[in-house]
Amino acid sequence: MNKSSTKYVIVTGGVISGLGKGIAAASLGYLLKKRGFSVNIQKFDPYLNVDPGTMNPYQHGEVFVLDDGTETDLDLGHYERFLDINMTRANNTTAGRIYYSVLERERRGDYLGATVQIIPHITDEIQRRMRLIEESDDQCDIVITEIGGTVGDIESLSFLESVRQFQNERGRENVIIVHVTLIPYVEASEELKTKPTQHSVMRLREIGLQPNILFCRSSYPMSDDVKTKLALFTSVSKNCIIQGLDAKTIYEVPVLLEEECFADRVLEHLGLGISRPKIELNYLKKFVKGVLEPKDFVTIGIIGKYTQMIDAYKSILESFIHAGVDNDAKVKIEWIDSEKLKSEQSCKKAFKDIQGILIPGGFGERGIEGKIRASSYARDNKIPFLGICLGLQIAIIDFARNVCGITEANSFEFDENTLHPVIHLMPSQRNVTEKGASMRLGAYTCIIKQNTKAFEAYGKAEISERHRHRFEVNNDYIDQLEKAGIIFSGTSPDGSLIEMIELKDHPWFVATQAHPELKSRVGNTHPLFRDFVKASLAYKNS
Ligand code: GLN
Repeated sequence: MNKSSTKYVIVTGGVISGLGKGIAAASLGYLLKKRGFSVNIQKFDPYLNVDPGTMNPYQHGEVFVLDDGTETDLDLGHYERFLDINMTRANNTTAGRIYYSVLERERRGDYLGATVQIIPHITDEIQRRMRLIEESDDQCDIVITEIGGTVGDIESLSFLESVRQFQNERGRENVIIVHVTLIPYVEASEELKTKPTQHSVMRLREIGLQPNILFCRSSYPMSDDVKTKLALFTSVSKNCIIQGLDAKTIYEVPVLLEEECFADRVLEHLGLGISRPKIELNYLKKFVKGVLEPKDFVTIGIIGKYTQMIDAYKSILESFIHAGVDNDAKVKIEWIDSEKLKSEQSCKKAFKDIQGILIPGGFGERGIEGKIRASSYARDNKIPFLGICLGLQIAIIDFARNVCGITEANSFEFDENTLHPVIHLMPSQRNVTEKGASMRLGAYTCIIKQNTKAFEAYGKAEISERHRHRFEVNNDYIDQLEKAGIIFSGTSPDGSLIEMIELKDHPWFVATQAHPELKSRVGNTHPLFRDFVKASLAYKNS
């Protein structure tokens, strides 16, 4: 296909946020890819942050990092997990980024004295970014473009206007609109109501957009009457009103949508509905069965602060689902507030029914001492342990303090005056002052030592993982730590950065400076999660 023949499926949201547009888009991508198309997905976020890197994950959900170091919305995680492709900065753009580049150009004088306006300057920039994927990959047949937010939001307007212009330019058979909406159920009258969707489609039409397909989230099946009414008010043909029932797991969504012929309808609208062999979803069906009918279970404790906001740990939770299926078990998560781990006694109580301890990534001093206690407890009691990023730094502090006797050991992040910064800032980073720019971000190669748990898991010596952190293990302490029993199992290729550690004389205590959870995918579980769950099951059944 040549570049301009790439087709677009624009996914918009109506009525309320949180309807699972990202999962719908990712599932559609999965079903199209299964049919042999080359598919990619991009997301436009209407907020004014230049990227989500500086946003609080406890409000906005986790920051998902790509190989190229772009910090993105967690939906990109769903896209990568479902489509099994590595995305780039072309896959996620915020309104902030769009305005930023237009204003930079304005300051440079690139607009030659013209008045800079939303239409055409902002809308042109949005469309330029919509085309980035087809421009970098001329094999791409279909781009799914998810517009964040809800139709009717002031912030979404310029994006929807850009879609209108883009559709005019490229033709309605090349750019179609899937509107994801809610059909609420009213208990009192025992009815599914279509009015909110009618209104939301009206808002779309006001800006000149007519949805081709309605993707209707509802808790109960829609009757034929409901569909007829929706079709009448929205001008969407009845067979293009797709039912999106609540699924038991997100991995069931593509299976349910295939039964609804969602992808077939999309292809018909795009003029690609030529007969193709029927696809089978056996792998996914088996995976879903594995999720829903586990043979065993294991409980993993995740030690964090504000553990209520589970979207902040989205990729970790998904990785555990993948790893559970690989081990024929359900991974139950117990959220443990690190501030409650005030003594060994409180650890004992908190970890009574837990067979694995995970310390995830994190920033800031709050709750740190509790995390150090959790790491100690896992080390002393031979409980399987996985440390991710901050989790590795915590394990080093615990070991330095409690095994090597360096009682003042700390991270520079928590105490700038510590006498023993076992975790410190690299000299190259000391002068970086802008918060958004001071981190080691994106994919880095790591070389793994043979005969280690890490090597056993990965099965090879050279790996690549994604990073997002400021601080590093201080090499001045390596000898001392090594002599006392830490194995530095992974380093950067030149040996200058510690990437992975583990413990001698422990059934499974592994920590990594990277974020392995960002690379676990359906059918391609991350090996560290797989082996951590395996070790935790062995611990439970021993
Ligand atoms: N706060 C630590 C650092 O910046 C760890 C970051 C993380 O866990 N992602 O190095």
